[in-house]
Amino acid sequence: MAKIYYDKDAKPEVLKGQKIAIIGYGSQGHAHAQNLNDSGLDVVVGLRDGDPDVEKAKAAGLEVALVEDAAKAGDIVIMLIPDDVQARVYGESVLPGLVSGNALFFAHGFNIHYNQIVPQPDIDVVMVAPKGPGPMVRQMYVEGGGVPSLVAVYQDYTGTALERGLAYAKGLGATRAGVIETTFKEETETDLFGEQAVLCGGCSELVKAGFDTLVEAGYQPEIAYFECLHELKLIVDLIHYHGISGMRQRVSDTAEYGDLTRGPRVIDQDVREEMKRILEGVQSGAFATEWVLENQANRATMEALRRREAAHPIETLGKELRSMMTWLQE
Ligand code: NDP
Ligand code: MG
Repeated sequence: MAKIYYDKDAKPEVLKGQKIAIIGYGSQGHAHAQNLNDSGLDVVVGLRDGDPDVEKAKAAGLEVALVEDAAKAGDIVIMLIPDDVQARVYGESVLPGLVSGNALFFAHGFNIHYNQIVPQPDIDVVMVAPKGPGPMVRQMYVEGGGVPSLVAVYQDYTGTALERGLAYAKGLGATRAGVIETTFKEETETDLFGEQAVLCGGCSELVKAGFDTLVEAGYQPEIAYFECLHELKLIVDLIHYHGISGMRQRVSDTAEYGDLTRGPRVIDQDVREEMKRILEGVQSGAFATEWVLENQANRATMEALRRREAAHPIETLGKELRSMMTWLQE
């Protein structure tokens, strides 16, 4: 069973006198900066010259500096910019500011686990990863709660790496909900596998395959869209709130019987074998290498795939149908 930490396990004193540099003010960055600041920690936000977020961060009462100055000032520096730019920004603007005993923090393990950032040996390397988007991390904190998070130590130079991580997580509000201990390896590999096989890749292909099957059999695409895509949210919400059995209790017995007998035919042994191969590609680093090279090639493959996918009838039709549903307009 996983080790889970709560408020009582965190020692905020460990961060006394330590400045926390938050690099980036996006989804996670704005939430971390504001929560830690409200928790009484010493925060500086590191942003690029001319970044429009500078004004937003200042308006929130935060100290703002250039990335290199923030990294220099920070005893703890957390990388909250997109994963695919972290290695470059780290090399150019963060590394020069790191001194012995500093800590380098992440909210996702990709760059450390796959050697895109190779940290010097005399610093702590820690992950504090909320299991929710930044706006929720902020909202829960304001409401007196927190978002469950992960903590992991990759390198413990000072002997206080875990304590620093937990104190940071407490400032974020995360220990109010629970902070689960993991490793950079486990967080990174499960995150990539989950998004590839289930959440993004698996789910979108399942929806498209169902839609294509109905349309090719002569059913109206509008009806196929509602059946295979639109209603997915209803079922996912039921699973999210009540678990799989709870969902089955809440759909009709006909739906439940069809689920129990036909579901395993869709996700059959071949699909499960393919999932294992996808996991192997994550574990071996083959996917990471491919993605790093793809970025170096200006995402040539990705752009081609994006264009092709956007032209699928489920997308063009979906746009039309969603415009009929006023509650879906932002
Ligand atoms: P965002 O994409 O929201 O971060 C954008 C921020 O990074 C902006 O401040 C942006 O500045 C800045 N930025 C972008 N490019 C650069 C650059 N080249 N140099 C300097 N700053 C730059 O990131 P997220 O908050 O989504 O992700 C941050 C980290 O958190 C990642 O490691 C991610 O995996 C992790 N994470 C994200 C979660 C989420 O729900 N989003 C959940 C858990 C972890 P500008 O406005 O100028 O572009
Ligand atoms: Mg420093």
